[in-house]
Amino acid sequence: MLASSGVVEAKQWRYAGMHPRTGRPADGLCHIEMMHVHTAAPMHADTLYRTRDNVYVFIGDPTPFGYEGPQHAYYGHHPVVLNVLVRIDVDVDVVEYCYHDGPHYHAYPPPPRQEFVDKEDVHYYAGEYPQEYRRESPTLVRVNTVYRSWSAPRPVVTLAPPPEYHGPVIQVGLNIPLPSVEVRVGTPRPPPPPPQPEWGGRVVREEHVHVHHDHCEHHVHKKHKKHKHKKHKHKKFKGRD
Ligand SMILES: [Zn+2]
Ligand SMILES: [Zn+2]
Ligand SMILES: [Zn+2]
Repeated sequence: MLASSGVVEAKQWRYAGMHPRTGRPADGLCHIEMMHVHTAAPMHADTLYRTRDNVYVFIGDPTPFGYEGPQHAYYGHHPVVLNVLVRIDVDVDVVEYCYHDGPHYHAYPPPPRQEFVDKEDVHYYAGEYPQEYRRESPTLVRVNTVYRSWSAPRPVVTLAPPPEYHGPVIQVGLNIPLPSVEVRVGTPRPPPPPPQPEWGGRVVREEHVHVHHDHCEHHVHKKHKKHKHKKHKHKKFKGRD
């Protein structure tokens, strides 16, 4: 019976993990971690999201959307492991690449089973970039064009990338005034979003208290050998008043 009741079903889009609510920075983020649907299509889906089984996973920098949770500083292009991001178990990692140029933030730490080095408490990918990365690069680097109009603080990087990093080195964000970074750091944080404790019963919420420029201790980094930064606590970055 194709004929019908006259009901037109709205198209639904499946999402997993935090993502921009509409794509406009002012509209903020949807914090539902379990798989869920919206009738709104993801904006900039081709550059800000990766898909698996028709599920959209946001992999971009959440900062322009008012993100205030734990964050990790990265520099340049690096792998993102989708199954780790949305916390599901698979036999083979689903590896995608982030094409954000220069310093940027993510809500997620560097994925396990991938090589990173830290310098100035910024994560740099230290592995080789595969053929897929290069093949998709012309399309996916457009993420930088999308972000260009959204002013948002970026991690402060004052030194050259470590030699282990083989990705592009591109000056970005020079138009962002430093005072806005300081204002943001001193701003009181709103309470974190309430936990969403289901992903088909498989959600494991990691207690991840890594904020701003602290080192990650839950994932193994190959330490940058020439950089004696381990003891540095970076208290000055943690405005809590
Ligand atoms: Zn959502
Ligand atoms: Zn980190
Ligand atoms: Zn990135």
